[in-house]
Amino acid sequence: MKKTIISVLAAIITFTFGYSQTFSDISVRATLEEAGDTTHKMQIYPLLFYVNHRIELENYDSDTLVLTLKKGDYNKMFKDFFFQELEVSLEKEGTPVVLEYFFDGEQLKIPIEIKNSVVNVSYLFQSDFGMKNSSTTVLYLTPFMNEWHSWYFVNDDIPIKSLTVNVPDNLTFYSNVSSVKKGNIYELDVENTTADPNISLYFLDNEYYEKKTFENSGVKCNVQLLKGVIVDTIQHNMKDSIIVYPDNRITTDYEKKVKETVNNSLKHLVSIFGVENIDEINIVEASLSLELDNDSIYTWGRQFNMNDKQSVILIDTSYWDKNSVQHELVHSFDAVSVPKTDSSHYFFSESLVEYLSLTIKYGSEDKIDSVFQKILPKIDKMGYEIDSLPSIFTATENLLNLAGIGNEINIVIYQKVPLLLHNFAKEVGYERFVMNLCKFYHIANSEKMMNMQLFEKYMRQGIAISDEKWRLFIKSL
Ligand SMILES: [Zn+2]
Repeated sequence: MKKTIISVLAAIITFTFGYSQTFSDISVRATLEEAGDTTHKMQIYPLLFYVNHRIELENYDSDTLVLTLKKGDYNKMFKDFFFQELEVSLEKEGTPVVLEYFFDGEQLKIPIEIKNSVVNVSYLFQSDFGMKNSSTTVLYLTPFMNEWHSWYFVNDDIPIKSLTVNVPDNLTFYSNVSSVKKGNIYELDVENTTADPNISLYFLDNEYYEKKTFENSGVKCNVQLLKGVIVDTIQHNMKDSIIVYPDNRITTDYEKKVKETVNNSLKHLVSIFGVENIDEINIVEASLSLELDNDSIYTWGRQFNMNDKQSVILIDTSYWDKNSVQHELVHSFDAVSVPKTDSSHYFFSESLVEYLSLTIKYGSEDKIDSVFQKILPKIDKMGYEIDSLPSIFTATENLLNLAGIGNEINIVIYQKVPLLLHNFAKEVGYERFVMNLCKFYHIANSEKMMNMQLFEKYMRQGIAISDEKWRLFIKSL
């Protein structure tokens, strides 16, 4: 592989907001700058977004336009770093007139003298992702995850009308909003989303990836295998320059392991869920971990739907060796969601998914036992006792985030409840319990309904469990 100094990437995004007659457009241009060209920009990440937000006001009934950034732990402190070169202007007879504004990292307040006017807000955006993720991930994956860090300003009275993203050929683009691709332009369907849809964009640098496609039971699976990153120092213009370039970590064995994992999991999942909800799954490998203050490492992954029947999974490379890939794959197949307002939300949306993924990955009582035997001492070391942890049905928020807080409820969701499910399975007969669980998922997905009654109905089938025993089991979760 020829060593190159970070090359240039470019992307253009255009946004339109609309509220009755009041609407706005945002256009974003992303570039990957030459290393060293930082004379007027405090740039630490390769991909920069130049954002232009055009707001067309008609009979606007306030003298101040307030735009808000909803998420961003560091915004208040580092607003000039994330939102550089912020400028606000008013279009007056076609000429821009620079406006004064107030920006505290959360709110942008713009005085509006004319009720019918066009206001332009422009800035250079950098994601705080690099501060939330260790390693060189930002070199090949640039996520603009609005739920973690707002990359665009919102006004709840001005819903987003349209959004287009221009993606250059050297990048692969994913978003949690469905889109139509026309050439290099992605037109995102934001009209049917809520006022604050948390539009997230993800860009991969193709140079760092090898795309492999597997097909199983009619489901296409694109796996973006990460080549890895080499960071090196060379003499450039008589001085030391840091260069980065793709590694070559994908071996034939690695590829084989990935293919086997994907195929085995898909075979299993198709037999439970069928293929009604899914056509295509995109799995993207990356280094997704963060060192927390307490010396532990937080590794994360996520699943979202890009288009109808098209799922995207972001995983840490270590996920192939655990049941975490299967966990995200279950999310791709399971189309039934229990509302967040329901007390069983986290039980169904995460704990049960986690247990099903364990049964898919390990396939036997003993193997799952050994997984828990490794987890339990860790929980103990953190000072938690399984029996005294809160009930899953009181969980209102999956608090684990990149600040590393919310360990307790996270342990309940991903460890305590799956463990209790497994203990109960062993008590009543593992094979039958897992068979019932698969049947429950099959029925729930064909009836598009998931609740505790349906769960009880199928889980107790063919197993002698008294009402009292079942009640105590559910209560223990
Ligand atoms: Zn999950």
